[in-house]
Amino acid sequence: MKVPLLDLKPQYQQLKDEILAVTEEIYESQYFILGPRVVSLEEDIARYCRCSHAVGVSSGTDALLISLMAARVGQEDRVLTSPYSFFATAGAISRVGARPVFADIDPDTYNLDPESVKQTLSKMSSGERSSIKALIPVHLYGQCADMDPLLGIAREENWVVIEDAAQAIGAEYKGSRAGTMGDTGCFSFFPSKNLGAFGDGGVVTTNSDSLCKRLKILRVHGSAPKYYHRLVGGNFRLDAFQAAIVSVKLNYLDGWTSERQRNAETYRQLFGDAGLEDRITLPVERENRHIYNQFVIRVVSDRDDLRKFLADAGIATEVYYPVPLHLQECFADLGYRKGDFPVAEQAAECSLALPIYPELTRDQQAYVVEKIRDFYTNLS
Ligand SMILES: *Cc1c(COP(=O)(O)O)cnc(C)c1O
Repeated sequence: MKVPLLDLKPQYQQLKDEILAVTEEIYESQYFILGPRVVSLEEDIARYCRCSHAVGVSSGTDALLISLMAARVGQEDRVLTSPYSFFATAGAISRVGARPVFADIDPDTYNLDPESVKQTLSKMSSGERSSIKALIPVHLYGQCADMDPLLGIAREENWVVIEDAAQAIGAEYKGSRAGTMGDTGCFSFFPSKNLGAFGDGGVVTTNSDSLCKRLKILRVHGSAPKYYHRLVGGNFRLDAFQAAIVSVKLNYLDGWTSERQRNAETYRQLFGDAGLEDRITLPVERENRHIYNQFVIRVVSDRDDLRKFLADAGIATEVYYPVPLHLQECFADLGYRKGDFPVAEQAAECSLALPIYPELTRDQQAYVVEKIRDFYTNLS
């Protein structure tokens, strides 16, 4: 049996007629960049996320970059974030000339641990501490970070909060949707995200009228009106094709999310029956709307051998992420060393993402669990 990590083809088959119809309209209109399709998607996203504004941008990475630019974060500034995320989270900080500062993660949720943030602050000189301008919590795998204590620290320290919600559209924390609790929320429409485009795209959400205005100016090279540049921005524009496709898909997102949640529940049942408690740990659901962009298990040992064994059996898995950000070569000059963030480092060695996409069948899931059990039976 073949079990891919993600198969987007059934989703396309389901929506083919609708997607071909909207894309044909765009061919006929010859209106490709920003425009009415993007405005309409922005309204849909703001409604879905329950916030005031959404600004369509060129990718999730650019959503982070433009948020930092809008918050005037730059040279000499520091930005605190998680060492356990996709590279773009920290890359965006460096690209505006600021310096990433990391704190460790919570072992259950893989999200930034507020206690570790406090510890990190207590070890910094007052000069270093006051140079921190922003916090980027990441809602990893589709579950929100513990926002109340993080927002509390940010308020005390007078930080801007930029949520990296690229993996968490529709996830909730105490009733608030991901991306609406901080100053801005950053989303990605990369095809493997729960709401994916047919190419690159992203969106920034905010409840601030002034930030929304600044984001829209920065998105078009800082010009307002056209050819009069108040700021140095960039080309962060979203195109009409991606916006139209994402608008179509948004109508189906809650259904797909329910299917992902059902698949997570099925894995819990199947793993429960397999008796692998001493070998693997299942994802901990702490917040009440986890959207399962990924279903990440933690294994006690032999992760890479297990991964190879599963690949040989036709089951695709992935490691998100094998090298924590503080140990990436490009950040060597930040001066971090192995051992600085043991929880993130341990996660990098032990985490394994299993297929969880909506159309995955119960038989496929049973096969995944059976093969994992076979692997550990052979080992012992
Ligand atoms: C995907 C992702 C991004 C970047 O989004 P792109 O659209 O690929 O640029 C940023 N942060 C996280 C946590 C992501 O998963």
